[in-house]
Amino acid sequence: MATSGLHKLLNIGTKIVAVGRNYAAHAKELGNAVPKEPVLFLKPTSSYLENGGTIEVPHPLESLHYEVELAVVIGQKARDVPQSSAMDYVGGYAVALDMTAREIQSVAKAGGLPWTVSKGQDTFTPISSVLPKSMVPDPDNLELWLKVDGEVRQKGSTKDMIFKIPYLISHISSIMTLFEGDVILTGTPEGVGPVKVGQKITAGITGLLDVHFDVDKRRKPPTS
Ligand code: MG
Repeated sequence: MATSGLHKLLNIGTKIVAVGRNYAAHAKELGNAVPKEPVLFLKPTSSYLENGGTIEVPHPLESLHYEVELAVVIGQKARDVPQSSAMDYVGGYAVALDMTAREIQSVAKAGGLPWTVSKGQDTFTPISSVLPKSMVPDPDNLELWLKVDGEVRQKGSTKDMIFKIPYLISHISSIMTLFEGDVILTGTPEGVGPVKVGQKITAGITGLLDVHFDVDKRRKPPTS
């Protein structure tokens, strides 16, 4: 959930624009073709969960899939931005998890239906604090990693992204205006899989930051 504990840039953002299938090896592991232009979908900012929080698995699911991703945080309003100046619009970077109810998404994909329910629920976008871009001189060469209960499940480099950050900012800003605090989730490397209630996820960008989250059942308040 968006809370005051989030970095102030994230608190003022209006949307999360997520990129699907941006690593060839991940597209392949889910049986998807490598796209010719970015596959985009939106997640609500109400799905943010700050570092140390609990990822909630909604009933009746037993597990969710994790996807570790580099989050690009927009620093100023961007509309129809050319690739040549796109990096001027970056305010910082974070590591985020694009949590996905894969069973629900598979049904939606088969029916040509949106991914809102499978991707947009509360706590489905755990995210780190925001690093200023001055601390990340080479965002195209970052190692992303994710562990479940201490065991490595994902390790990949942003150098393997099919569509790079300047292209993504230019392309997305030609479709919708990006505002300060908006986030682009740049896709996940291979190795996605389920995480169950009771397990712990740690993830990070090697040498820069790391985050940790518990996974538990979603507990709804009793109805009166
Ligand atoms: Mg994703």
